[in-house]
Amino acid sequence: MNQQYPSILLEKAVGEFSKLPGIGRKTAMRLVLHLLRQDTATVEAFGNSIITLKREVKYCKVCHNISDTETCQICANPQRDASTVCVVENIRDVMAVEATQQYRGLYHVLGGVISPMDGVGPSDLQIESLVQRVAEGGIKEVILALSTTMEGDTTNFYIYRKLDKLGVKLSVIARGISVGDELEYADEVTLGRSIVNRTLFTGTV
Ligand SMILES: [Zn+2]
Repeated sequence: MNQQYPSILLEKAVGEFSKLPGIGRKTAMRLVLHLLRQDTATVEAFGNSIITLKREVKYCKVCHNISDTETCQICANPQRDASTVCVVENIRDVMAVEATQQYRGLYHVLGGVISPMDGVGPSDLQIESLVQRVAEGGIKEVILALSTTMEGDTTNFYIYRKLDKLGVKLSVIARGISVGDELEYADEVTLGRSIVNRTLFTGTV
């Protein structure tokens, strides 16, 4: 169905919004029309926040978490336990684990999981920098908190093989979360409990 737009500007804006995940053309049109009804300053603030975000956002040079500074607030906090590192897939997972208030260690954001189907290999992820962090010493325990999918398991095992010889304790969060669930969808109590009740990772899935 080829809808006729009364304005190319409108069509362009709707096109951009509909590229976002979960936004169809109908919703895109509703959002664009909503913005059109706002005053100019509001819409400019909206547009500028996206442009500034993309231009100026930084990623922590230690853990790859999103940050406004070279080193993120978590890595820079002397109150955090720097001997424990929790490995997660993405920034939303950091936020989910932080929300549990059950974890005082640091993080390592991989940027995804190994997924040959999607063309994601180990070198596309922040695995080598994790190995380096551990090799530098000071880290006693690495907690694997990846999703309980086949890709998550594959990534766990790959990291295990890389870290095994470095003499660091490797644990995996308790499977209170049902298989296939992603971390960010687990409720805070369940996720908090699964971190507290983590078990030693032995390399067997
Ligand atoms: Zn950091």
